[in-house]
Amino acid sequence: MAYAITDRCISCWACLTVCPNQAIAHVEGLFMIDPQHCTECAGDFPDPQCSSICPVEGAIENEWGEPVNPPGSLSSMSAR
Ligand code: SF4
Ligand code: SF4
Repeated sequence: MAYAITDRCISCWACLTVCPNQAIAHVEGLFMIDPQHCTECAGDFPDPQCSSICPVEGAIENEWGEPVNPPGSLSSMSAR
């Protein structure tokens, strides 16, 4: 049970410090989630903190490879 960061990540650094398990690392310019440490925030927060703060659709996937913030999910404001 772990989230993963995809190549859509724009390296904004927002997620790095919000993880309650220090599961997110910045390695050689890329942001990565250590599946051994990611708990999907279960027991710590009602919502996964990294995907809650991530501003990029599709940059974080769940354990099934599905985008947690799918295309369109963060851009509803633009429809106004
Ligand atoms: S889902 Fe939670 S535990 Fe997993 S990397 Fe994101 S912030 Fe950390
Ligand atoms: S918040 Fe999203 S875009 Fe920013 S570093 Fe984390 S995964 Fe990448």
